[in-house]
Amino acid sequence: MTDRNELAGLTAVVTGGASGIGLATARLLAARGAAVAVLDLAPDGVPGPLTGLRADVTDDDSVRGAVRVAAEVLGGIDILVNNAGIGATGTIEDNADEAWHRVLDVNVLGIVRTTRAALPYLRLSGAAAVVNTCSIAATAGLPQRALYSASKGAVLSLTLAMAADHVREGIRVNCVNPGTVDTPWVGRLLDGAADPATERAALEARQPSGRLVSADEVAAAITYLASPAAGSITGTALAVDGGMAGLRLRPART
Ligand code: NAD
Repeated sequence: MTDRNELAGLTAVVTGGASGIGLATARLLAARGAAVAVLDLAPDGVPGPLTGLRADVTDDDSVRGAVRVAAEVLGGIDILVNNAGIGATGTIEDNADEAWHRVLDVNVLGIVRTTRAALPYLRLSGAAAVVNTCSIAATAGLPQRALYSASKGAVLSLTLAMAADHVREGIRVNCVNPGTVDTPWVGRLLDGAADPATERAALEARQPSGRLVSADEVAAAITYLASPAAGSITGTALAVDGGMAGLRLRPART
């Protein structure tokens, strides 16, 4: 049975928490009793009781400052959700070096900077957990996603390495691997497609469940990995992808 207040007394920081998966996660952590701060480029619309703090995960000073303020406001940091991320489309011929540096800077080094700043607080926690938002792109070869996939592959490896480095300090590190999730990000992707309805149908059909994942479903997985109920789970990747990574179905009969 789920304890609705299982995170009472704990504190959490969620990067990229002003939209999509991050916002759903911040809300769920708060609903389960945690005090939550959101670090985002655009935190102004973040609803109460969440604390919105402006931070750019590509800027070390910005991250350190926001993490320090979050720890002061919340009274420490027990849970860190490294979720801020950006996308990229195309093959290796399509993105200039600047785009590679930019996406790796946000998606990979963003996790490094934020976790590095949070570690002194996590070490003081009796229930420390880090959850990184990775992707199906880390474990399956998807067309037109070379740069994005490389960044998420790095997130998966980094999750395992961080889990090994910090397990003896009592800090668990895991990641979630969402399939295609119905968020503003995917909305923007569809808006840019020649035929958005056909593109959406193709994305839905790619997942064995036949539909997109919801942000709330990813938030539930993150919240579980972040909670003391997952106290023996570290160094894992939890797929939240409607079966996309693991299943091989025969074509549906018409
Ligand atoms: P989103 O665009 O709805 O939200 C991303 C948030 O991150 C935004 O609020 C944005 O302001 C913030 N952000 C971006 N760059 C930042 C920076 N430099 N510093 C601080 N904040 C920054 O996206 P989403 O779909 O909710 O994606 C969230 C995470 O989930 C990303 O890491 C993404 O790679 C991952 N993911 C998404 C999907 C999907 O289908 N939507 C699938 C797998 C993984």
